[in-house]
Amino acid sequence: VQFSSLPLSKQQLATLETLEYSQMTPVQAQSLPLILAGEDVIAQAQTGSGKTAAFALGLLASVDVAAYCIQGVVLCPTRELAEQVAEEIRRLARNLANLKVLTLCGGVPARAQIQSLQHGAHIIVGTPGRVLDHLGQQRLDFTQLRTLVLDEADRMLDMGFQEELDKIVGAMPSKRQTLLFSATFPVQIESLAKKLMRMPKKVVV
Ligand code: AMP
Repeated sequence: VQFSSLPLSKQQLATLETLEYSQMTPVQAQSLPLILAGEDVIAQAQTGSGKTAAFALGLLASVDVAAYCIQGVVLCPTRELAEQVAEEIRRLARNLANLKVLTLCGGVPARAQIQSLQHGAHIIVGTPGRVLDHLGQQRLDFTQLRTLVLDEADRMLDMGFQEELDKIVGAMPSKRQTLLFSATFPVQIESLAKKLMRMPKKVVV
């Protein structure tokens, strides 16, 4: 299936062509129409499935670069994954001048992150512990958030991030889009979805 069958901007389609993304992967073909329609989506997806581009294209389609506020948050279990995700979002956003994607991960000093936050960001990609730290210090404002993404949600729960997730989501508007990607679906993921999502559509590839 071609990306051009989706309601994406001409500029976004041109970026995909430049990156030589010609066909959608199965998880993209099944989830992107739902994501772009604003639905909450739970998708079963492994690394290498193209899951990052699926939620990145959703984030980029709804972001308003002229509005200097946090509109998208992606939570990841590890710093390595968060950095890869941020890199993929930036690659896909080459047509969006002035878009700011900021990573907020533990294991690195907070000072540079604090400075970057003062300059504003549209999309935050981070690990739950560090994001919660910044939130607790009033350095993050999620009141204008449109989309929350939980990437590798099963690993986040395995790592014990349930409480952090609850607190972070508590600072977000209840009217938002929530996208959850997970390799496995234990009962804990089902109950997390029940708590955080509204009539989610399930995508299994
Ligand atoms: P991910 O599963 O998100 O880690 O993606 C795996 C790799 O596939 C990344 O290097 C992406 O840049 C690449 N990729 C994602 N979607 C496509 C696509 N539709 N066509 C070609 N490459 C893709």
